[in-house]
Amino acid sequence: MKAPRSGGGWKAIKYSLTLANKVGWWKLWKSMRTRNACKTCAVGMGGQKGGMVNEAGLFPEVCKKSFQAMAADMQPAVANDFFAKNNIDQLRAMSSRKLEYSGRLTQPLLLSPGEKHYKPISWDEAFDLVVERLKAAGPERTFYYASGRSSNEAGFLFQLMSRLMGTNFVNNCSFYCHQASGVGLGSSIGTGAGTLRLEDLDHTDLYILIGANPSSNHPRLMKAFMEIRRRGGKVIVVNPVKELGLVNFKVPSDVRSLLFGSSIASTYVQPHVGGDMALLIGLSKEVLERNAHDQAFIDAHTENFDAFKQQVTETSWDDIIAQSGVDRETIRNIADQYLSAKNVVIGWCMGITHHLHGTNSVQSIVNFSLLRGMVGRRKAGLMPIRGHSNVQGLGSVGVVPGMKQAMLERFEKQLGIKVPTTPGYDTMACMEASHRGEIDFAFCLGGNLFGSNPDTKYALEAMSRIKTVLYLSTTLNTGHVWGTGEETLILPVLPRDEEPEPTTQESMFSYVRMSDGGKSRFTGPRSEVSILAAIGQKLFAGDDRIDWKKLESHSAIQELIADLIPGYENMKETLQSHKEFHVTGRAVEEYNFPTESGKAKFHALPLPDLSVAENELRLITIRSEGQFNSVVYDEEDIYRGQERRDVILMNRADIDRLGLKPDQRVKVKSEAGEMPYILVREFDIRAGSALMYYPEANVLVPHTVDPLSKTPGFKSTRVTLEVEDVIPN
Ligand code: SF4
Repeated sequence: MKAPRSGGGWKAIKYSLTLANKVGWWKLWKSMRTRNACKTCAVGMGGQKGGMVNEAGLFPEVCKKSFQAMAADMQPAVANDFFAKNNIDQLRAMSSRKLEYSGRLTQPLLLSPGEKHYKPISWDEAFDLVVERLKAAGPERTFYYASGRSSNEAGFLFQLMSRLMGTNFVNNCSFYCHQASGVGLGSSIGTGAGTLRLEDLDHTDLYILIGANPSSNHPRLMKAFMEIRRRGGKVIVVNPVKELGLVNFKVPSDVRSLLFGSSIASTYVQPHVGGDMALLIGLSKEVLERNAHDQAFIDAHTENFDAFKQQVTETSWDDIIAQSGVDRETIRNIADQYLSAKNVVIGWCMGITHHLHGTNSVQSIVNFSLLRGMVGRRKAGLMPIRGHSNVQGLGSVGVVPGMKQAMLERFEKQLGIKVPTTPGYDTMACMEASHRGEIDFAFCLGGNLFGSNPDTKYALEAMSRIKTVLYLSTTLNTGHVWGTGEETLILPVLPRDEEPEPTTQESMFSYVRMSDGGKSRFTGPRSEVSILAAIGQKLFAGDDRIDWKKLESHSAIQELIADLIPGYENMKETLQSHKEFHVTGRAVEEYNFPTESGKAKFHALPLPDLSVAENELRLITIRSEGQFNSVVYDEEDIYRGQERRDVILMNRADIDRLGLKPDQRVKVKSEAGEMPYILVREFDIRAGSALMYYPEANVLVPHTVDPLSKTPGFKSTRVTLEVEDVIPN
């Protein structure tokens, strides 16, 4: 399959039109225009300004990812006899795509111990079962996991329930994506979120994009890059993989770009996998050696500079060049661009965070940015490019293992409850506890916990040792069929545009949107809030600390959020007038860093150990164009020119060096597992590295985590290849 010459463009439009044909043009248009936040990525659009409208009021702000998610929710219900006809083994034989398109879930489903079929049960039976099992499991043997799909309101109730039950074993999917950004930024500048607002990008004259592929995963950001280039600004892309959409992209909403394409990267650097940190240290060294840093800013607004400077000085150029894989001339060139720019933004994604040194890489980004005071003021700053539409909001409302002190104090004072202060479990810690047989109840609010885990064999063992696994879901995914416990319960929920009352979501720019909700497309599914409130009423019957009946009302929860969540005070106005707002204190201004000292902190960081044996490659797991997180909508990956997913993409030099041939079958092996009959394909990727598709390649990723953020190294697995001599039919 041949890759196109640009990302986006007519192919993206044609894809959206095909989806519209499937579900009905008018219906899809009407659904997209409702005042609900986009269901997909955390760039965000929609809400009270209207569907496909961004916070600046621009229309049409939409992409095919958004259409994909909407179309999936608009499909018919799962057939009545679907679960009677398909036992668990047959469901396991289905692809992620087939499961997703089996239809919307409309009834509670129970897979009882020893049974082969999910069977429908009533809502009352489901609630009784959940409450009985939760009580039996108790706080020490239950964990609570949420994906970024859920609303702030559902997330708030979810974590409140866990805290009232007496546990901090509560977390969200960011532990498998951007937690290193939160920890790295928090330890450097006192806030774990990006420091920018969308409108700041209008002033950027240099954007450094590291380890990210927004052309596939956050398509609307491409317009911002196009505009930076049109203004005469620069975009430096740092990525071991040459991604087509980062070279040239046709922005569908811009006629000139759609017709002729827009050049995105003005400089494209392909470092070694994991070599970004060495590159950032090299860039800092270059700036320091030229004495071009802003000493006045550093003296006034930062601390620990001397230790950082000494560490950088002691790190040799040879080591920097060897580990980064970037030559001195290129480092000089990037430093020149950095030093001549007025407003620099550095954005990154999981190419940075999915390493065992992910947090240190984020700290290195901050270090470099601080050298010229490019963080802590408007128009410049740092931008972790986040995944799911409300992953940031869930963190804000407390779906995290350790509640921040300010929030904890408010909870205790205003609600009169004692919040547990025992150490919580991050996501991998929950899996490890499950693997040890220490968990009886896993409460999964959306997502696909099983599918998003590294080390699939380990995840399978861990989930199967849990007594009861509960999923709240709109459609089927591989988690429901592989991530089963001794018994597994699925409760069907409404997506945000079918919620009976408004909900809120927070974007990666810390902009809180209000979604109106809308008419449910089916009878049967319930809102997440109504499910959690119903469970709360039964679980805490006779306990008058919280009025769970009252919390069936979204506005009652929103009042609590306004009172209890620091930065969300403006929610009060949203309640009155539906006015959306930016979370207070996130866009750091006038160098007022929210740290104890009020100063930003440099970190002195040695280079990590990234050695590999001669016959090993460093494997990066990636998402494809037709995919959102673990949901695979399409088997083909248009931009990378791949018609199938059982492939390993390699540099031609490695194919030759290892004595292989394109389209040859190999077994890919790592310390965690192996994948047989994988097709070798040539690709423009830095030699020494390889690409395979997530989540299938999770089999190969060990479950070791970055010690600081607890994020697994999904983009840094050492693999070897073995030629297969038998070709499967
Ligand atoms: S870029 Fe993200 S927020 Fe915007 S339309 Fe696409 S999926 Fe939705």
